[in-house]
Amino acid sequence: MTLLRHTPKEISERSALTINPAKTCQPIGAMYAGLGVRGCLPHSHGSQGCCAYHRSTLTRHYKEPISAGTSSFTEGASVFGGQANLLQAIQNIFTIYEPDVIAVHTTCLSETIGDDLGQIADKAQQEGKIPEGKYVIHASTPSYVGSHVTGFSNMCVGIAKGFGKAGTQKTGKVNILPGFVEPSDMEELKRLATAMDVKHILFPDTSGVVNAPLMGEYHMFPDAGTPIEELLQIGGSKGTIALGEWASAQAARFMDTEFKVPCAVLDLPIGLRATDRFIDTLRKVAGKNVPAEIDRERGLVVDFLSDMHQYFYHKKVALWGDPDQLISLVEFLRDLDMLPVAIVTGTPGKKFEKRIAEIMEETNMPVPYKVKCPGDMFLMHQWIKNEPVDLLIGNTYGKFIARDENIPFVRHGFPILDRQGHQYFPTVGYKGALRLMEKILDVLLSKADAETPEEKLELVY
Ligand code: SF4
Repeated sequence: MTLLRHTPKEISERSALTINPAKTCQPIGAMYAGLGVRGCLPHSHGSQGCCAYHRSTLTRHYKEPISAGTSSFTEGASVFGGQANLLQAIQNIFTIYEPDVIAVHTTCLSETIGDDLGQIADKAQQEGKIPEGKYVIHASTPSYVGSHVTGFSNMCVGIAKGFGKAGTQKTGKVNILPGFVEPSDMEELKRLATAMDVKHILFPDTSGVVNAPLMGEYHMFPDAGTPIEELLQIGGSKGTIALGEWASAQAARFMDTEFKVPCAVLDLPIGLRATDRFIDTLRKVAGKNVPAEIDRERGLVVDFLSDMHQYFYHKKVALWGDPDQLISLVEFLRDLDMLPVAIVTGTPGKKFEKRIAEIMEETNMPVPYKVKCPGDMFLMHQWIKNEPVDLLIGNTYGKFIARDENIPFVRHGFPILDRQGHQYFPTVGYKGALRLMEKILDVLLSKADAETPEEKLELVY
């Protein structure tokens, strides 16, 4: 990454080489989803190196210790398969650490060998290695396809499969799948659903797990995450709201097919209109009017937007990250009258470019834009060298481009390794929209303050 200043301006066609990918590996998402189940210890079925990488990436992003088990593959397991290691691990983990759930995901190595997690979990059950009332759930997460978002989605299906049942007694609750978002976002989604008087089960829920307060006592399993009693009810819910096609739709459709719980798949509620759609769906589900408190929050977004519109107007933006986040961000940037001209995601999916095109058309995007799925940060940098932008939005890896090209930079998405705040302050909902606008305005005006000639420097521009 530090060599980005040597990125050439000339773009050559590449078909078999990714440079600085705009994604991380599947098991990281699976591990993150597993942490959102109360009393759960994620378990990486592969080598220690993979597990160390997944844990350290989550730790660096959340600044919290991330506990996880590993099947500790060595040469023997790599050749003959990891069944014996996993059976031993399940027994040891339940005996020593006493979690309520172990969420096992595969790695490139165990996938290539062909280990069947379902069969191994069944064997563990038959051999009495899973204590009464405890669970082993699992997901297949080969990292040579997809990304951390795919892994998150696969583990959401693992949770639904592991706890849901067809024919569960009806509860009148609504399942909410939050997508691969921050714990602060999950907390905000619960607050909005509660304010709308919607009885809900949000899963996975990492709020209070990876942004826990320091209270002087260590709890390996914090009193947070979606409780198992609630997860056992998901098959009896009256519907599912899945936020994000890439991270949440798969589990929602699984529950629709298997448990006959109908689902609605929405964009992540980032920005004004995506939040409107989320609130409107909650309103229809609850059969109630939107409370004044939420109307007021929306009004604040509209007020900010209209007060500060001149600073946002027609600023060119380059952004990268996860598809669900980018779709909503692009729509919000267009609502701010900004110009998202360069968009890259590392997570594959045919619908991405189509959805971006729809948003651009709906909002009469006045200039051409570039979008690549899957693409990489190297290409993004080359685009920027050819057509400079006013703002970057993306994960920490963009800091090298920001420095090399002297472009204001808002950190958003995963991972953010060099700033704090994402764990505590949401970017979803109307409150999140206010925060995003504040962050964008802050970096744009800070650059103006730093670079405007002294004789033209104004208290207010
Ligand atoms: S080997 Fe595969 S699972 Fe392990 S860290 Fe690398 S990409 Fe991720």
